[in-house]
Amino acid sequence: MHFFVDLQNVGKGYETRERGDPLMETIQHCPECGATWDEGQTCQDHFHQMLFWENEYSGYGEVHHLTVLCYQLQHPGLYSPEGLRAAMHLLDDFLEHGVTTEDVRTHLRSALDSGQRTWKVKGTPASHGAYNPPIQWTMTAANVIATGADNYCDSVRTWARSTYETLKASGNLSL
Ligand SMILES: [Zn+2]
Repeated sequence: MHFFVDLQNVGKGYETRERGDPLMETIQHCPECGATWDEGQTCQDHFHQMLFWENEYSGYGEVHHLTVLCYQLQHPGLYSPEGLRAAMHLLDDFLEHGVTTEDVRTHLRSALDSGQRTWKVKGTPASHGAYNPPIQWTMTAANVIATGADNYCDSVRTWARSTYETLKASGNLSL
């Protein structure tokens, strides 16, 4: 789906993080979503684990759109400001209006093909999405991984609902 940020580059900003001496390692928090990086496992690592499960288990791809949206909404710097707004809108469409990925694909294809979109989806260091006020998420990528591969699809749906409700409660949901 062209709308989403190129997955190859998702969370790339974290790769330069110095892990340092394990004995000296202090507790690290994700600068974007605030989750604790236990045992050096970053949010990006969790995201890659999710994508692996989606490839590995039949039917798991059905929640892929929610996985990508939630991950990116909780790491808003991956988006441009316009991209972040569009992503919130998309989550609202999926959860509140029964919009399907097929609907989105059709709609976006026509929008993209006609060249109507004049803004970039992806954030840059100079221009990227952010929340004001900052958001304390009740569920992050780490929680989805913690519930295990067997519960993956349900966990992602719960994560999507939780992400939506948290956005709404924080006053950041702009549609
Ligand atoms: Zn994070």
